[in-house]
Amino acid sequence: MNVLVVNAGSSSLKYQLLNTTTGEVFAKGNCERIGIDGSFIGHSENGKKDTLEVALPDHKTAIKHVFDILKTVDQPIEGIGHRVVQGGWYFPESKVVTDETLGWVREVAPLAPLHNYAEADVIEICREMFPELGNVIVPDTAFHYNMPEHAWRYAIPRDVVDTYHVRKYGAHGTSHRYIWRTVDEFTNHETHKLVSCHLGSGASLCAIEDGQCMDTTMGLTPLDGLVMGTRCGAVDPATVFYLNRVANMSIDEIDTMMNKQSGLLAVSAKSSDSRDIEAGMNEGDEKCAMALEMFYYRTSQLFAEMAASMEGVDTMAFTAGIGENSVTMRQGVADRLAWMGVKIDPELNAIRSDDPRVISTPDSKIRVLVVPTNEELMIALDVEALLG
Ligand code: AMP
Repeated sequence: MNVLVVNAGSSSLKYQLLNTTTGEVFAKGNCERIGIDGSFIGHSENGKKDTLEVALPDHKTAIKHVFDILKTVDQPIEGIGHRVVQGGWYFPESKVVTDETLGWVREVAPLAPLHNYAEADVIEICREMFPELGNVIVPDTAFHYNMPEHAWRYAIPRDVVDTYHVRKYGAHGTSHRYIWRTVDEFTNHETHKLVSCHLGSGASLCAIEDGQCMDTTMGLTPLDGLVMGTRCGAVDPATVFYLNRVANMSIDEIDTMMNKQSGLLAVSAKSSDSRDIEAGMNEGDEKCAMALEMFYYRTSQLFAEMAASMEGVDTMAFTAGIGENSVTMRQGVADRLAWMGVKIDPELNAIRSDDPRVISTPDSKIRVLVVPTNEELMIALDVEALLG
């Protein structure tokens, strides 16, 4: 089945047209700076990349351009899959778009206002433009929804939890689900307790026992957990009250600071990109060295937390930008887990490949893999399962 996968962000819209049987990607691209001056579409097809400078005042215009561009691809679109950041309390799994399910995406939008409203608008436009095509909602939170109550519940009053739906929702669920599926197949179903380590500009770990999410490091929102590119990860929640009262910072200012000006960027005082930070460390920059040290420290700590949620771990899988590419950062995290019996082979770790691979030594107590993620394929497979 040929599926168009759409991933709408607050000012961007990524798309990919692929086939679920062969995994072939016919075309993909990104509409950037939607609603901002200087908008453009980066499109690639048959290994050729083009940049189209076009006015993109809103997501509606962007998706119309995408459909125009895709007319040149000699492949029919047979279904559309929409990545939705927050599925809230309505989506334990992906669902076909109806008036009701689309309403749910909007109803839970206060939990992810920068994303869900744009995503709902794009879904609506797709339905209007192509009423004959089925659309599927694939929330990034769905995989985590049925984690045990002791993992999702926060120890705050029950009426607050119930009225405002305050709980751990997690994120990167589509990636973690794809990683489970790939690891399960790659290890001939020998994996039972997996910690999936999605380390990119956003980063989260997920404890997965026999395909079931047992816990994850992101919380009500993707701000919780690990140190990320520009997000602080877990801090004492009272930091917010303190800064509001004492530093006179507004809630919005603290929100921006913690989401956009923190993490590796803040500690390194240089960049949110791990490549720049690794380069800085190699040049003797102490702040960059501290940023990396904190990344290893927190990732290894939360790895142990994920293992505790399953009372054990047999496999660890690195994925996403850092997890798939950074030899140094994989080694740094593994070194801090040597006490748990994690041992990676430096030669295997240095191999670059687009295929899943083992990088641990034969005597490592925990098997360590690098597994390239493919959220688009996972979304497309959900579309096929629901519409195919
Ligand atoms: P993602 O959000 O999964 O696209 O990951 C993006 C992040 O991955 C970038 O900000 C970099 O920090 C990191 N990254 C990407 N490529 C490399 C690489 N070759 N070596 C080290 N880090 C990388």
